[in-house]
Amino acid sequence: MRTHTSPMQARTMERMEPPVRVIVPGKAYRFEAQDASHEWQFTQLEGLMVDKNVRMTDLKGVLQEMARQLFGPERKVRFRCDFFPFVEPGVDFSVDCAVCNGKGCRVCKQTGWLEMGGAVLSTLRCR
Ligand SMILES: [Zn+2]
Repeated sequence: MRTHTSPMQARTMERMEPPVRVIVPGKAYRFEAQDASHEWQFTQLEGLMVDKNVRMTDLKGVLQEMARQLFGPERKVRFRCDFFPFVEPGVDFSVDCAVCNGKGCRVCKQTGWLEMGGAVLSTLRCR
């Protein structure tokens, strides 16, 4: 049982020359306290894009489309600068809560947003 799917990024970069575009889905398991928004088992999606002229807008477009395909076309997404100890500089990616439609509930801790994950920007050049 793995705690994340990140080793696939290193394996991919060892085996492939750029341009590289991969999505790595997989089950992950963590010893965490369970609550309305955390489980000990979850499905993790990681993406890796290495190419010339990759921009923040590419990342935003991929994540926005993924959210709409998974949670419905009416979902809103937001991106915020955030700190993650394993990715710096990092960005937080959230989707408006489908349970309460962004009004606030127990699942979204009354914020109206569900954090989907973080992303590293260090290989991107924002223009
Ligand atoms: Zn909610």
